[in-house]
Amino acid sequence: MDISLQQVGYSYASGTPFEKRALHEVNATIKSGSYTAVIGHTGSGKSTLLLHLNGLLKPTEGTVRVGDVNITAGTKAKELKEIRKRVGIVFQFPEHQLFEETVEKDIMFGPMNFGVPAEEARRRAHELIKLLGLPEDVAEKSPFDLSGGQMRRVAIAGVLAFKPSILILDEPTAGLDPRGRKEIMELFNRLHEEEGLTTILVTHSMEDAAKYADHILVMHEGRSVMAGTPTEVFSDAERLKTFRLGLPRSVAFQRDFEKLTGKPLGKLALTEEQ
Ligand code: ADP
Repeated sequence: MDISLQQVGYSYASGTPFEKRALHEVNATIKSGSYTAVIGHTGSGKSTLLLHLNGLLKPTEGTVRVGDVNITAGTKAKELKEIRKRVGIVFQFPEHQLFEETVEKDIMFGPMNFGVPAEEARRRAHELIKLLGLPEDVAEKSPFDLSGGQMRRVAIAGVLAFKPSILILDEPTAGLDPRGRKEIMELFNRLHEEEGLTTILVTHSMEDAAKYADHILVMHEGRSVMAGTPTEVFSDAERLKTFRLGLPRSVAFQRDFEKLTGKPLGKLALTEEQ
């Protein structure tokens, strides 16, 4: 299922004195099966863009097309519900949304709300517990008795339980230590490669964008300003700089940068981390 955005504009509090324009004439295509990293400075419109991809926000102008459904200002709630099943979003700090007594019930909650029978939802929950590398005995535990990294996996399982074909990740490693970050990123990479999930990652980490994505979309002041393969985007590091996107100096990034662009990072390294 491809996603395309045509001339998408969005204003918060549209028509009020507090109107705030967050997106202007955004054009983008996200191909089925791709792994897209959305990068951009804080406030560039990344989160607002994500919310359009599963119909949580409707564009004030233009069209968002998800598979065969067009989302415009006039799209009805019923059609948007269909999209929400197919497009899963893992929000920042998703563990804040855990609330059930047990891990199993928490993972089952979403699909059951969408009419999946309890037995099927339970089967999916156990499959996901295994897939996400959680110990089997967590099923009966309270999610609040788990470690931070485990809680995050349970929350991610809750999104995967809908069996989405597109997975949207908004800074999914925020607040985790380096080991936890790597584990979660490797998990998403595995889901992308083995399950064929179309993956859209919003990240501040140029390292993750270089390492995992096959397509990069750059946002700046509410506009889509660059798009292409990591090789194309990182080859124009001078342009990235104009969007206040510094490149990290880590050895790992230098290696990936050279591999992608055939050039040494050298003086282009601007900041440690955004
Ligand atoms: P990013 O995710 O890249 O940090 P956002 O999409 O959160 O960017 O924000 C884009 C712009 O929209 C910013 O100027 C931000 O202040 C504004 N904005 C975000 N959410 C709201 C909101 N709920 N109400 C009003 N303005 C908002």
